[in-house]
This record gives sequence, C-alpha cells and structure tokens, in this order.
Amino acid sequence: MTGKLNLNLNLGAGVEPMLESGIDSAARPDVENVIILGSGPAGWAGAIYTARANLRPLLITGNEIGGQIATTTEVENYPGFPDGVTGPELSERMQAQAERFGATVELDFVTAVDVNGPPFTVETANGKRYRANALIITTGASPRKLGVPGEDRLIGRGVSYCATCDGFFFRNRQLVVVGGGDSSLQESLFLTKFASKVTIVHRRDQLRAGPALQRRADTNPKIEYIWNTVVTNVSGENKVEAVTLKNVQTGEERQFPTDGVFVYIGHLPNNAPIAGKLAMDEHGYLITDKLMRTSVPGIFAAGEIQDSRFRQVATSTGQGVAAAMEVEKYLAEMEDHAYLQRQEPALDRATA
Ligand code: NAP
Repeated sequence: MTGKLNLNLNLGAGVEPMLESGIDSAARPDVENVIILGSGPAGWAGAIYTARANLRPLLITGNEIGGQIATTTEVENYPGFPDGVTGPELSERMQAQAERFGATVELDFVTAVDVNGPPFTVETANGKRYRANALIITTGASPRKLGVPGEDRLIGRGVSYCATCDGFFFRNRQLVVVGGGDSSLQESLFLTKFASKVTIVHRRDQLRAGPALQRRADTNPKIEYIWNTVVTNVSGENKVEAVTLKNVQTGEERQFPTDGVFVYIGHLPNNAPIAGKLAMDEHGYLITDKLMRTSVPGIFAAGEIQDSRFRQVATSTGQGVAAAMEVEKYLAEMEDHAYLQRQEPALDRATA
C-alpha cells in the first residue's frame, strides 16, 4: 500500500443506504471508496452490492450504457424472467436498482487508469480525473465484427454474435456461421437444436477448433462447411436474406441465401485503459483469481474483461457480486490498517 490513506467508509455509517437516485457530485469525496468501470451486468451487480454496503460507488458507464446486453433484443435465459426481457430493459432495471441504493452513475468513458495506488487514478473522455481506493473493472469484451457492408445495418435482424441469445428465433431456418475456432463450432452445434441447416464458413481449409468439437461437428448431419471462403457482404431489406461468399483461393464470388449470420471470429477485450498495467492472458483478458483480484491489490475485475469462457449475463452478474464483496472486505482491512497506524505513535509515546 502506498500513498496517503483517505478513507470515507463511515460516510453512510448509522444511516440506511440512500433511497433516491443520483447524488450531488459536488459532495463527492476527494478519494472515492470504489469506482466501477463499465455498465454491463457485472458493473451493475458490483454497483448494487457496493452501494448496499454503504460504499457510495461511482460507476462510469463507458460509451454504451448496458454493454453487450443493451444490443440484444431478447434475453430469455436470465433467471427470474420467465417471459424473457429485452436487453435494454434488463440493463435499465439493473441501473435503477443500483441508483436506488445510492450508486452514482457518470455517463463518461474511461481513457486511462493509473494503477499505482491506492489511491488509483481514473481519467475520462470528458476530461475528469477521479481517485479511488478500489476499482472494479467491468469493461467487457466486444465481438469482433466482419467489417463488411450490411453487417451493422442488419444486427438484430439476422446478424448476431450470440447463439445462446438469438438461436431460438431461428427454428427450422438455414444459418451461416462464420469462423473456425472453438466458439464457432460450439455455437454451431447449439444452433442445430433450432436450425434446419448450419453452414460454417471458414477462411482456411483447416479448423482452429479442438479435435473433440471437430468430431462432434463432423458427425452432426445438420452441419456443413464451406472452406477457404470469407463473407464479403450481408444483404436483405429488413432482415438477412443472403451473404456474398468469396473463395480466397480463386477470388470467385457468389450469393448464398441464408436466414441468419452468426459471427464467431473472436472477441476483443475492452482493455485499452489498462493494457500493459495489469496481468493479462495472451488474448488480452485480465487474469483474476477466485476472489476476482487482478495482479494489483485493490483492483478487481468481473465479467467478460476477465472471462472469455462463459459470457452470460448470469455469470457476469455473479462475478460482479463477488468482486463487490471482496472490495468491501479489502476496504475494511485498509481501514483497520490505517487505524492501527494511527495508534502506533500514541503507543510509542506511552512506552517512551
Ligand atoms: P479464436 O480461437 O480466435 O477463433 C477465431 C476464428 O475466427 C478462427 O478460426 C479465425 O480464423 C477466424 N477469424 C478471425 N478473424 C477473421 C476474419 N476477419 N474473417 C474470417 N475469419 C476470421 O476465437 P474463439 O473461437 O472465440 O475462441 C477464443 C478462445 O476461447 C480460444 O482460446 C478458445 O479455445 C476458447 N474457447 C473454448 C471453448 C471450449 O473449450 N469449449 C469454447 C469457446 C471458446 P483462423 O483459424 O484462420 O485464424
């Protein structure tokens, strides 16, 4: 631990958590207890739990409030919503819950984090600088896009990056899945529960996916492959009707009718403000332990910035909860440490 300790853990002591949304930011302490970076499910869960622990969290949203679920039409697998819920509504409900308990939400984008602390310094696109004794990083990951014409326009209308979220809507339809890695094959296998046919389009003639998944895909009668091929265009008026396929060896292009395109060409962790400052794996995901701790004490991470495997709203919220509980413990230990440090000179004087 370095620097002067500046704790405000007792700000809410003896009172109930605030039950109105929004706190006058002028009343913010010089050093926050905890700043949460990101407004996906992990961030909201972290905010709800730290707010209920009277830690007055500050959550900085990022460019899109809600993260990836805000771009998902229907969430049908989040427990507690038997009739499903739209991604934006679920995100708004989580935000309302966090604000109800006193979380402050700043619509801003974190551009840099100084991990030398506590206190840690966070800088934003709006030119603000915040300091905090703990951070929870929940900046998530974004699916890598094809970057071809028609893709953005038809997101949610046949273009998807999440089979678990959207596969259900393609019962008895024909689908294209792009990519040759584990995700592509695993999600293609999942999609065969609904679709009548799944065509995997891969840019090489060899899969990157592991042998077990390859075997399962090879023996599934609904799965077919098109090798050495990339998608160069997605077309359709109000929904996907076809893709343009280009053979990378011959250069030949052709139209391929399909009802949907699922893109699995990797995810990109949103790690720009912390790249090179915290331990990451070879794909750029933060490395955390079971207690959601990163390589720097006081900095925790939750959700897809540290989880490339599960990528579910339910798992991200669980990780956000765990991080928040550990932040509470970490700050309490910090406060104990500061208290003991204050007592030591007095003890020294008494024994001198
Ligand atoms: P990945 O392993 O990076 O595979 C991405 C695939 O997309 C590769 O086949 C790649 O082709 C292709 N690709 C990349 N950019 C492309 C582009 N611009 N156009 C067309 N194709 C493109 O990503 P992932 O499948 O999401 O897996 C990420 C990590 O999670 C991996 O370590 C994986 O093992 C792990 N994972 C594991 C499981 C499991 O164990 N069940 C499930 C999911 C993910 P090339 O092959 O030519 O590079």
